[in-house]
Order: sequence, then structure tokens, then C-alpha cells
Amino acid sequence: MKLKELNGIGEKTEKIFNRAGIYSVEDLLTYYPRYYDTYEQPVLIRNLEADKTQAVRGKIVRELSLRRVRKLQIVEAYIRDEEGNGIKAVWFNAPYIKNVLHHGDILIFRGYVHENRGTYVIDQPKTFSSDQYQKKMGEMQPVYPLVSGLTNNMVLKAVKQAFSLLSPKEKIPLEIRKKFNLQDIEGALHNIHFPKENNDFHIARKRLVFEEFFRFIITLRELKQQNEIARNQHILHEPEELKRIIAHLGFQLTNAQMRTWEEIKKDISSEKVMNRLIQGDVGSGKTIVAVLALLTVALNGEQGAMMAPTEVLARQHFEYITELISKNELNITPAILVGSMTAREKRETCELIASGKADIIIGTHALIQENVLYHNLALVVTDEQHRFGVKQRETIFEKGNYPHTMVMSATPIPRTLAIIMYGDLDISIIDELPSGRKPIANCVVGTEYRPKAYHFIEKQVQEGRQAYVICPTVEYSEAVEGENVIEYAEKLQAVLPPDIKVDFLHGRMKAKEKNQKMEAFAENQIQVLVSTTVVEVGVNVPNATVMMVENAERFGLAQLHQLRGRVGRGGNQSYCIFINGSGKKDASQRLEILNQSNDGFFIASEDLKLRGPGDFFGVRQSGDFEFKIGDIMNDAKVLKDAAHAVDLIENKEVSISEEERALIYNVDKKNINI
Ligand code: ADP
Ligand code: MG
Repeated sequence: MKLKELNGIGEKTEKIFNRAGIYSVEDLLTYYPRYYDTYEQPVLIRNLEADKTQAVRGKIVRELSLRRVRKLQIVEAYIRDEEGNGIKAVWFNAPYIKNVLHHGDILIFRGYVHENRGTYVIDQPKTFSSDQYQKKMGEMQPVYPLVSGLTNNMVLKAVKQAFSLLSPKEKIPLEIRKKFNLQDIEGALHNIHFPKENNDFHIARKRLVFEEFFRFIITLRELKQQNEIARNQHILHEPEELKRIIAHLGFQLTNAQMRTWEEIKKDISSEKVMNRLIQGDVGSGKTIVAVLALLTVALNGEQGAMMAPTEVLARQHFEYITELISKNELNITPAILVGSMTAREKRETCELIASGKADIIIGTHALIQENVLYHNLALVVTDEQHRFGVKQRETIFEKGNYPHTMVMSATPIPRTLAIIMYGDLDISIIDELPSGRKPIANCVVGTEYRPKAYHFIEKQVQEGRQAYVICPTVEYSEAVEGENVIEYAEKLQAVLPPDIKVDFLHGRMKAKEKNQKMEAFAENQIQVLVSTTVVEVGVNVPNATVMMVENAERFGLAQLHQLRGRVGRGGNQSYCIFINGSGKKDASQRLEILNQSNDGFFIASEDLKLRGPGDFFGVRQSGDFEFKIGDIMNDAKVLKDAAHAVDLIENKEVSISEEERALIYNVDKKNINI
């Protein structure tokens, strides 16, 4: 059903909804709240606590003031409660507030309280009469993820209308729902949007998570069945040149790399098509193993493709392979295909691919677009695979004549979960780091440590090394606290000597610009790179030895571990500085886990223990698996249940009707993100 059929949604509003990923009335039902707001009893000013949303009842003691700071318009009000204590309230870019609120008004102010130079300030409070507030108390108000132009109220109204127009279809068989104690779909969807109490939410969420995992597992099983019947159409043998290439890599392959390489060789020369996951912690050297496979394919006269999640990474792989080919004087043509190329460049590359002139093709999602036709695709490698969907894996599968597939991942997940998540794949594990790596030296410190850190970075740069500084946000915003890349880079450049070049990188930049900056950093034209987490995935600049993370408390430990993996990639001692910007002790405690271990798997499981699996709105454990609502670590039990349910159905151990079966095996794969 079209969005425009809802009251209050015209063409313009429809576009705004589209930007949030909502294209139909059906989509609204699964546009889940990010969290719920509950309105608590107002407190006295002397009982307020910092860094928390709270409500106070008070009187405005003078007319509001309006001032400008840079591009910001700031309205301020002074409020006094019944005991005579005062607090300041501020609103940003909302000058109309000055005409709405006046001296003498007695209201309830609800907002985020923070400390500013020793006194408390209440940020952008919403105001209510006592009656209004009384009504809100005790309700759980859904808070939706928003994009600019979209307000919570717009979503709320649309969702309410959607419920009155649609009745969602039940896709989990009754017997399964009974056995695993799952709510029906209608109730679950209703309660995820409008829970009366916490328990409603938990019951609803469990059902929806289950369904998400359930569908995912069914898709995997279908893939697996396809794999099992497919005969190997590309029987590949190790070419003569390969031994020479391996001997001249400039390093000795580790035992784990050798073992993995042997497993791959065995697969691709066998009767069956290879579908293999290469799991190895950051820095374990997965790339070279993939590259050996690609060279083997090319030397056998067929085509191999490698997909990376970002352009920066694709370019890096391309350059590495190109260099290796020319160093070894191989008769192989590499090509690159990425989104930022001009239409003409793309067309030319596509011709090379279609004619078979290009032997090894590196790229991003662009590689699986419809207009890309392959001549004889025999191998597809996806680097950091979790960022690609099962659906995409299928698409690429269809591009060739049953090509071999290899997926590489650094995501540390327990074996029991890996078996489910990668149910359609065989697994090789690279569980050894290249020799000669010095363990990274870590520290977790407060913001007062910054001057020392800057001095340290300066010294490292003088020794010829480079540094990353990671900030959580791109640019200044009142709504989100924390350091931002743009201002930070400016600040840092001012502190460091002018011959040290500081520059920045973030995800909102154009792909071309990102590539340029990353290349400049790789060539040491930039010594200090201030960046968001766009560098998290796989980038390799072995000369970088310092990773400083601002507001480290904002990141999941698994993510911080990935970031840490950007350094320690060469022979030099590397350092990681995690800045706890919150000053809170429990945040420091959590970050200390990173000190205890360099083992990604250990870190992820400790993080989970510390926070407990109930922490649904906290940092995502495994942001890599982009399920809409489920989280494989936090919801591990539900994931196992869902796998069990699929087993029961496949083994016909539950009775389900034909109609129910048809619904299960006819899932819409577009909605499965993995
Ligand atoms: P990841 O597994 O995180 O993708 P990479 O493949 O990017 O790691 O490898 C990290 C770095 O280690 C690269 O600079 C690579 O050239 C180097 N490397 C890979 N294997 C070895 C090895 N056996 N000995 C020494 N260095 C290696
Ligand atoms: Mg990698």
C-alpha cells in the first residue's frame, strides 16, 4: 500500500519517509522504535543528576534571552523550583521558544541534564502543564530512528494509521509458536510499537527476533542445498608459477595461512564447488590467501573477482595485486570497478570483463550490478563478508557458472553461533598472527591525558611513523555530544608543529575524496588522519603505529578491537590510546578488557558478560551482522531456538499445514540483510 494513502502524507513527506527506508505502509509496521521514553516523576532541582533525562517542576523567573554563537541561536531560561533552587534551560536553533514561554509560567521541564562549568543545565527541555505531564507518566513512548525532516510525531501518526489499515500476515507455523512460546505476529508488532510495560516489549521483541533469524536460516539452508548439488565446473590446479610467487612474497606464510591455502586448493580441484569462510582475526593475513586463490584462477585462464565493502579497501587490494603481478612478471590483467568511476571508465572496464580480457576484477558492490557480465567467472571472494547480504551472495552466484566462493571475516563469534551463521559454508580458521609482530601497547585514559598523547604522536611522527585519531561524529552538533572529526582535525593541527600534516576522513565525503585522502595517508603525505570509523574495515597502512580513539566509551569493544587492528601491521611497536570521554568508571572498566587481551573473540564474550544480554539498547555487540532487530550475541539463545525450529520443520518433527509450509519457503529475500 502506498504511503500517500495515509492522511497527512503528500509527495514531499513521502520522500522524507523514503529517506528513512520507508516506502510502503507495510514498511511502517516493521519500522521499530529505537527505544522507549518513560516519563518519570519530576524531581527537585537539588536532587538532579548529571547525564540523565529528568523532569523538574518550576517557575520561569525572568523573560527568556536569545543570543547567537557562530551559526547557533541559543534561547535561555532561568527556572526556580518550590525550594528556591535554580537551573538554566537552553534551546538551540529554536528562537520561537522565546515567544512561547514567559516570565512567571509554572511548568514541568523535561530534558537531558548535564554539567557545565560546575553547574547543571537542562538541555532543550520539553514543557508540559501538570495535567499534561500526569497523563504521559507511566506510558512507554516509542522513540523512532529519524532522518532530517522526519519527526517522531510524524512516524507515530503514520504507524498508528498503518495498524488501522493493515493486518500483518502470520508466517511462523502455529506448532512452532507454541513450542517456542512465541507471540502471534499481530500482537508482537503492536506491542513493539506500543508496549504498555517492559514485559510486553520483551515478549514482542523475542517473537520478532525469532522470525528474523528463522527466515535467515531458511535462506541459508536453501543456499546450502544449491551448493550441494552443484558440480564443479572450474576444476583448477596449482600453476607452476605459484611456488615462485610464494617464495618471493617478502615474508614466510604462517602455518595457519599455509593450512588454509591447502584447504582452498583441495576444494577448487575437487568435484564440488567451493564455499568457504576464512575466519581470522584482524591482521592475521587473510588478504594474501585470497590473492593466491585469485592468481591461481587467472593462471588457469579463468576469471576471479574480489568484492570489498568500501572503495578505499577495494583500491588497496587492487594496488597490491597489480604490484604483485608486475613484480612476478605474470601475464594477468587486473581491473577495478567501483562506484566513483566515470560512466565511461565503467563501460570500458565492463567490456574488459565481458570479453574476458580482465582476469582479476576487484571492486565494491558495483561488481554485482546487472550490467556487469563475466566471461568465465570461476571464483568470487568477498572481503569482510558480513557487510554483504546473503541475497548479494546469491546474485553473484548467478553471475557465473557456479563460481567458487570464498568469504573472509574477522568477526569474532563463538563456534556454536558460527555454525548457524555460516551454515552454508565450510570454515577455515587463521588462528596465528605473522611472526615478528610486537603486541600493541594499550592504555585507557581520561581526556586530561590528551596533551601527553599529542606529544607522543608528535614524537612518533618525527620517527617517521603515522597516527590515526578516531572521533565518533562527523561535525559539530548540539544534539550529539562527543568529539567530531572536522573540528578535531583543526584543533589538532593547531597543537602539532606545522610540518606535521593533519587531515580528516569521514563517511559523508564523496568516494573520490575519501580515496584521495586514504591514498595520501598511505603514501605518508598525511601523517595524522582524524577519522570516523570508516577506517575500521580492513584498511592496511603498516607504517601507522598510533591509534587514538576519542569517546571510546561510545563504541562496542568488538569495534574497538577492529580499530586497534589498523595498527600493529608492520614491524614497529604500535600503540593504542583509548580516551574515555565520559569520565565514568564503568566505562573505563569495560574498556580495560581491551587491555587484558588482543584476542577478538575473548573481548566480545567478556563485553557480553559485563553488560548482560538484556542490554538491548546499548552498543551493538556485532554490528557487522546487520539484522534489523536481532543481535546474534545478545540474542544467541533465540538464534539457537530458530535454528532448532528449522531443523524440526525439515525433519518433519512438527506438523505444519501445506499453507504454512508455502509461507515459510516463499520468504521475501529482499528483507534479509545478511
Ligand atoms: P587481515 O587478515 O586483517 O585482512 P591483511 O591481510 O591485511 O590482514 O594483512 C596484514 C598485514 O600483514 C599486511 O601488511 C600483510 O602484507 C602482512 N602479512 C600477511 N601475511 C604475513 C606473513 N605471513 N608474514 C608477515 N607479514 C604478513
Ligand atoms: Mg582484511
